Amino acid sequence: MDYEAVIGLEIHSELKTATKIFCGCATTFGAEQNTHTCPVCLGLPGVLPSVNKKVVEFAIKAGLATNCKINKYSKFDRKNYYYPDLPKNWQTSQYDLPIAYEGHVEIDVDGEKKIIRLTRIHMEEDAGKLVHSGTTIKDSATSNVDYNRTGVPLIEIVSEPDMRSAAEARAYMEKIKSILEYIDVSNCRMEEGNLRADINVSLRPVGSEKLGTRTEMKNINSFKALEDAINYEIDRQAEVLDDGGKIIQETRTWNPEKGITQSMRSKEDAHDYRYMPEPDLPPIVTTEEEIENLRKSLPELPDARRERLTKTFGLSDYDAGIITSSRAMAEYFDEVVAGGADAKLAANWMMSDLSKNLNAENLTIENSPVEAKRLSEMILLIQKGTISGKIAKIVFTEMWKSKDSAEKIVKDKGLIQITDTGAIEKVIDEVIAKNQKAVDDYRGGNKKAVGALVGQVMKLTKGKANPQMVNQLLAKKLDA
Ligand code: ADP
Ligand code: ZN
Ligand code: MG
Repeated sequence: MDYEAVIGLEIHSELKTATKIFCGCATTFGAEQNTHTCPVCLGLPGVLPSVNKKVVEFAIKAGLATNCKINKYSKFDRKNYYYPDLPKNWQTSQYDLPIAYEGHVEIDVDGEKKIIRLTRIHMEEDAGKLVHSGTTIKDSATSNVDYNRTGVPLIEIVSEPDMRSAAEARAYMEKIKSILEYIDVSNCRMEEGNLRADINVSLRPVGSEKLGTRTEMKNINSFKALEDAINYEIDRQAEVLDDGGKIIQETRTWNPEKGITQSMRSKEDAHDYRYMPEPDLPPIVTTEEEIENLRKSLPELPDARRERLTKTFGLSDYDAGIITSSRAMAEYFDEVVAGGADAKLAANWMMSDLSKNLNAENLTIENSPVEAKRLSEMILLIQKGTISGKIAKIVFTEMWKSKDSAEKIVKDKGLIQITDTGAIEKVIDEVIAKNQKAVDDYRGGNKKAVGALVGQVMKLTKGKANPQMVNQLLAKKLDA
């Protein structure tokens, strides 16, 4: 049987406010256990929470940036469940009146654009963290709980089940990450868990409109795990269905070591949580004017920026998509171009040598050893003909290792391009004299034989001869 995969994502993103959602405790990551706590986030009896205004502002911004409608009257609700990392035994979240709803973003997979709808965005508090003596709760003699993360603000972004493959789900999550970075409301450090996704996957026969039974994988915090878990789950479900079995609606965990999903527990339905309005917090009322002011404060977003780069600089849609995928990358590009570098050269260098080096050392562009200014200066040297593109690769490698400017490296290492006709001709004469066979081949009609001769000239000049001049002068001599 041929199946179609149906995927919906619930993305949790920690907001980068200085303090927690309902108290004044710091949100900083990595502090000593239980040092960022107070009676409010510990859920002690008799305390009263109050809403951090910044959280509401950030959530509305996220809603506007993803084309959502904003609820001018929104409220908090209690989601009740029992777990040691949740001191109050309810999570303050939002149920029927989330801050934002009915949005959409555009994704692009291999040049195919597609709209993914957002159901809603709501605000909630994060839970604490269990620290096990073993590797999992099951094999641990003791588990401690760290409440530092309790009350850290989150937004949950719920998508419609609009994705049909792991690649689409990844593109969607990348787009959400990119938007949240652009509007500067979250650090989006997936490895620290401040951006993570619950993935819902089901299958249905191709052509069927009815949704199949879904399983849910929680807290996926890397793009690789996201794709691997979805692909594994699609195969697993297909096998169950092909064998005449039924999919059980359940929560499964992704085991990255084994590369499989494993059953964890049967899934709760909303009524199991006994949602109820939060009586300790007033509803959140937002005026049209406040919303419009926040809309005006939004920066240029990834899609708009991408379009601008194609229109202004003639970059391909694909290249512009990569350059604008992160705000830091887009800003780096702007700086390189502002320094006078040709936009296409700038994009090429960023997507090739720069990206390769950053990836190899696991660095982000913010921490690039070669700053935008120095890359720009190096590209200017190529444009002026001081160095060839090939020599530039050597210069770039040197710049990566030192703080020197491209110009200094070129001078110190004697890498200046040879553009002196006489000097190049001298080498050409030498090469022609020593490579009679290639010369005869060329003159006998095999024009490709010139390649070997060009190669020899470049070798003898250590790559410094201007390649266009070498080609021209060689052809002139050989055709004479
Ligand atoms: P819950 O919190 O119970 O998981 P939500 O409504 O918050 O429920 O989230 C459900 C998520 O699962 C949404 O992203 C939705 O698009 C997705 N989803 C719902 N039904 C299916 C299905 N049959 N197959 C795949 N995804 C689904
Ligand atoms: Zn607190
Ligand atoms: Mg869910």
